[in-house]
Amino acid sequence: MTDAEKIFSLLEKDYPDAHCELNYSTTFELLVAVILSAQCTDKRVNRITPALFAKYSAPEDFASVPQEELEKLIYSCGFYHNKAKNIIAAAKAIVKDYGGKVPDTFDGLLSLPGVGRKTANVVFSVGYGGDGIAVDTHVFRTARRLNLSQGKTPFEVEKDLMKAVPEGMRNRAHHLLIFHGRYRCKSRRPDCAGCRLTEYCNYFKNKNEVEK
Ligand code: SF4
Repeated sequence: MTDAEKIFSLLEKDYPDAHCELNYSTTFELLVAVILSAQCTDKRVNRITPALFAKYSAPEDFASVPQEELEKLIYSCGFYHNKAKNIIAAAKAIVKDYGGKVPDTFDGLLSLPGVGRKTANVVFSVGYGGDGIAVDTHVFRTARRLNLSQGKTPFEVEKDLMKAVPEGMRNRAHHLLIFHGRYRCKSRRPDCAGCRLTEYCNYFKNKNEVEK
């Protein structure tokens, strides 16, 4: 077993239920929720999407909603101006170029306006079961702490993880790192005392070196 395989099998013990925590009922709603989740917690997104999706749900709905109207509905997620603009632009492209269906390939998703690698990877893996790794703030931090990557950008970390994690396990690895980052390996004051991964962790080793 490689270190990466050992790390993910230990994480599996801690987070057997690791999954996408955004609420949605269609792949398009997932895309909207993921766009809203940038710089915002999933909990906050889940608070606003029930009212939003009750009013607008299909790409056709979002393609024709006035931007100010959408901004009001998503205001509490932050960056509401850009998020509204991106959601409307993506919806218009889906209607115009994909017959109203969210593209099911990574490249197709990435071609949508306002959709970056992280969003495309989440929709590809969560919405379509694709084998991608979306690098959000939790994945970026935990992968670097656990020496799975020393990449300086999310794209570099994504490339390292795609190499380190065997095919077929990447979708799962993404959820496990998110849960670990969200619930134990927090940015400030990670719970190292309760962590099974100390022997693989750069952060833990460096911290102990400093304290010696
Ligand atoms: S030992 Fe601490 S910093 Fe390292 S992975 Fe575990 S919780 Fe995170």
